[in-house]
Amino acid sequence: MEQDEVPGQGKRSPQRMIKLYSTVFAVAAAALLFYLLLYDLPPPAGKLPDVPQQSRTQPEPEAVAPSPVPGQEAPPVSAAAPAEESLVETPAPESVTPARAALLIVIDPGHQRKGNNEPEPVGPDSRATKPKVTSGTVGVHTRKPEYVLNLEVSELLKEQLIRQGYEVRMTRDSHDVDISNKERAKMANEAGAALSIRIHADGDASPKTKGFSVLYPSASVASARPIAESSKAAAAAILNGLKEVTGSTGRGLSERSDLSGFNWSEVPVVLVELGFMTNPEEDALLSDPDYQNKLASGIVKGIMQYVEAGEL
Ligand SMILES: [Zn+2]
Repeated sequence: MEQDEVPGQGKRSPQRMIKLYSTVFAVAAAALLFYLLLYDLPPPAGKLPDVPQQSRTQPEPEAVAPSPVPGQEAPPVSAAAPAEESLVETPAPESVTPARAALLIVIDPGHQRKGNNEPEPVGPDSRATKPKVTSGTVGVHTRKPEYVLNLEVSELLKEQLIRQGYEVRMTRDSHDVDISNKERAKMANEAGAALSIRIHADGDASPKTKGFSVLYPSASVASARPIAESSKAAAAAILNGLKEVTGSTGRGLSERSDLSGFNWSEVPVVLVELGFMTNPEEDALLSDPDYQNKLASGIVKGIMQYVEAGEL
């Protein structure tokens, strides 16, 4: 066999060929590997910005956190995106209208326990005076003072408005205050109210007179002119809201030039007369919690209608 090997040496060339081929193959493979490595390696240097972009669609936080590009907005985007979605889903349609949340409604529950008969000018341009604030009318059936009823309905109105996303402030939440009508108007002015709602109840010599009405300032008064048009639009919307919820037509709108609370106002203002406390049936109805809630919801409907009409 050894001998055979000798002659076998005569077949050197095929062995060399195999060796040669395998060398060439190994070199080629190495070159290919090197090329591939070379091709892949430069990207990390040149394509760094792309790397986070690609990984942005996938795992993300870890991929971007160590990223050498701190200015990239990728982390906030990926971190905020899911949070924003859940925020939109959770608080429901109401809070989707952020404009409404910024609107401030001032509620002025009319009167107070002790009236103040000191005179004050009816308006900035007027020499005429009126008592600062009176204690209002009284229920012929309930014997309830008007200032009590006004605050009851105002509290319900406040709750309902807050539920709709409005900011609400009250001129009073107690009966034991001394705030004149001029001062109440100034409170709404200083607060920058989008709308001021004065809540009152009516009285009349005839026990038959009944029904709600909505008052607004007259453009014939110079100081009220800038707010007359928007106030009238709010009054009309609120009257509609009250009609809708009560099914009653009420007594309509009333333009007034004689109210201190209107003439001192620099913000749109309306006064809702809820009904007549001098009418026994209506007086009883006005103290019914269901009816009070109904009246409040009618006023809210009107405010929303006014806001959506773009008056604010
Ligand atoms: Zn009143």
